[in-house]
Amino acid sequence: IASRLPNVGTTIFTVMSRLAAEQGALNLSQGFPDYSAPPLLYDLVSKHMRAGENQYAPMAGVLSLREAIAEKVEALYGARYDPEHEITVTAGGTQAIYTAVTCLVRPGDEVILFEPAYDSYAPSIVLNGGTVVRARLEFPDYRPDWEAVRRLVTPRTRAIIVNTPHNPSGTTWTETDLRTLARLVDGTDIVVIADEVYEHIVFDGLRHESCARLPELAARSFVISSFGKTYHVTGWKVGYVLAPRELMTEFRKAHQFIVFTVNTPVQLAFAEYLRDASRYLELGAFYQRKRDLFRSGLAASRLRPLPCTGTYFQLVSYAGLTDETDVAFAERLTREIGVASIPVAPFYEEPPGDPVLRFCFAKNDDTLLRACERLARV
Ligand code: GLN
Repeated sequence: IASRLPNVGTTIFTVMSRLAAEQGALNLSQGFPDYSAPPLLYDLVSKHMRAGENQYAPMAGVLSLREAIAEKVEALYGARYDPEHEITVTAGGTQAIYTAVTCLVRPGDEVILFEPAYDSYAPSIVLNGGTVVRARLEFPDYRPDWEAVRRLVTPRTRAIIVNTPHNPSGTTWTETDLRTLARLVDGTDIVVIADEVYEHIVFDGLRHESCARLPELAARSFVISSFGKTYHVTGWKVGYVLAPRELMTEFRKAHQFIVFTVNTPVQLAFAEYLRDASRYLELGAFYQRKRDLFRSGLAASRLRPLPCTGTYFQLVSYAGLTDETDVAFAERLTREIGVASIPVAPFYEEPPGDPVLRFCFAKNDDTLLRACERLARV
């Protein structure tokens, strides 16, 4: 068959989780918690199922959920989104990104992304006939080089995909980064697709710099978040997108034919659950403690953690430990010492060969401590 994605295999997250399961390894690879959400959340879903709320939700999502999202976003970022026209509930962040790209990109359009990049971005662009234009976040600090980004902008640039807090580097952008981005797109038609699915997982007293905070950016951005990340239920696949009305009208044209609508009882449950702000406000502290536990556990090993200011991912450098590629080293660690991680090479079209692995610390303390004990042996 003439493949439209000839260079794409199975995502590294599936590959490493499968290898971890086969080998009975501790799975710090794919990003998902190995603990449960509070039972109340499950009770709420079950309550709505039993109440007979099991048919299609409105195409844009359950209105009470969109209202709760609007209140949260206004309280956190001072941005007002009209639940009727400017908020859509999606089947997770990945679908929101795909749909945003699909409703924007025409054949020949260019889309800028930052490598290392989450592995769904480029295929979404390619499937829509777009051209992927790559900016680099360089090891070891993974900071954007805004002058280099500026040189990538052409009259064909349709969109720019940004991601903060950033997967896989665990870095976060500053307010200055967002202001620079705003200046860069000023006077163009470039749309910003902002993957902010780790918005509540930010550490050390920093605040999440959302594209929704800056009115001039918000006016041209799709801002995407994910309940899976925030509420420890990645398998439920529910997230949302914010955008000004004109952009959202286009988004919904595509959305209705991609998924039409999203799981009704889960949306109703989130509409209630979201009202308690402490649940997302405490998430940063919850993960900061796990980050610190994992980082201090690594002190006994020859792996060196890089700075991590957000997400539930910790990059570690293995410079000087082995000359193996990250893919080979991650595989060997899984097989030989029973700890699975994610190599960073699959986040690039042309991997730079940096000696780094990504570990997910959204795991029980016991899992993290056992992983550190094993990692101390390499
Ligand atoms: N976002 C998750 C990660 O980075 C994986 C999601 C997936 O498996 N597609 O690990």
